[in-house]
Amino acid sequence: MNAPATLAEVRPDARTGELRSLDLIRKLVGFDTTSRDSNLALIHWVRDYLEGHGLTTTLTFDDDQRKANLFATLAARDGNATDGGIVLSGHTDVVPVEGQPWDTDPFVATFHDGRIYGRGVTDMKSFSAVGLSFVPEFARRGLRKPLHFALSYDEEVGCIGVRRLIADIVARGVRPAGCIVGEPTGMELVVAHKGKRAWRCRVRGLEAHSSLTPHGVNAVQIACEIVAYIAQRGRDFRDAGRRDEAYDVPYTTTHVGVIRGGTALNIVPRDCTFDFEIRHLPFDDPEDFIHDVRAFAARFLPAMHAVDAHTYIEFDHISTLPGFDTHDGSAITALGHACNATGDVGKVSFGTEASLFHGADIPTIICGPGHIAQAHQPNEWVAVEQLRRCEAFMRRLADRIAPA
Ligand SMILES: [Zn+2]
Repeated sequence: MNAPATLAEVRPDARTGELRSLDLIRKLVGFDTTSRDSNLALIHWVRDYLEGHGLTTTLTFDDDQRKANLFATLAARDGNATDGGIVLSGHTDVVPVEGQPWDTDPFVATFHDGRIYGRGVTDMKSFSAVGLSFVPEFARRGLRKPLHFALSYDEEVGCIGVRRLIADIVARGVRPAGCIVGEPTGMELVVAHKGKRAWRCRVRGLEAHSSLTPHGVNAVQIACEIVAYIAQRGRDFRDAGRRDEAYDVPYTTTHVGVIRGGTALNIVPRDCTFDFEIRHLPFDDPEDFIHDVRAFAARFLPAMHAVDAHTYIEFDHISTLPGFDTHDGSAITALGHACNATGDVGKVSFGTEASLFHGADIPTIICGPGHIAQAHQPNEWVAVEQLRRCEAFMRRLADRIAPA
């Protein structure tokens, strides 16, 4: 792109429509919060900002005290800080920029041609910035019920941080009536996403010269048999499984993403390892799937052990993210419709922290500016039009939770 303007140059421009969140977007994007690094500089800055507006804050840390979640509460007019009200939720971490061809500094929010570029502008600092930019107004108008902000660490590496934040608020007796997660949905209201489970399979065979294959146990070939079974299960879900057409991919999927095995063509390979996952609709049980995969794998063991007793097939659990499905008639969905001025809902295949709030009995919806297709990309961008829609959402939210 040529000669992008800085946000400061853009501010007086009518094209941005005087967005009130621009300063905060620029501020948050300016913190390099790549998941592997500390997010404390951002967290401390936001904590100070919120405390400056009268919110109470709690930090929950990772084991090394290098990263933290921030939970902040603006109490209602009557002092209520725990019962009811909603949570505005966003993760603070972003994916790496290394190896990506960026045309601008990824950590400087840059305006060009109706878009703002920068790492995290879509996934998902803009939603947090828009919410934070309305704090002075929420505080001035006064709330019927408490309003909470939940800013987490390590979402991009498995929704790790927010689990501690949720455990902490449950332990402290904070009982929000609903949660809005601002992951990029193009400001469409999303009420469900699939669950995901991932495992690693480790096949241990026995080496032999490749001219003597019956004397060895070929770990690569056995792994490939199991991989083929997982792929067949994926086709079965597609062709014969239950569907929910509201999802972008309307059936449960299986997938093998990494495989390693063998050292040379003339050696029967001793080891092969592969990673696989299932992304399941609410009515498909991932336990059934892994049970079947294990049972299929077990068929190979007698022949393997007949050659060598030390051979094995092991499965290691890597991660679990439950799915969620918030009833379309729920209060949080109705609030989402009112704030978004739409009646449509969507369901998506990518996982978010929404399922973890949902699992803690906090009804949750997802609605945020930008599109998932722009997330994790070089030159990540969000359209100013999306930010306008998000600010309009927040303005309507203010009218409902903080009537003047
Ligand atoms: Zn995200």
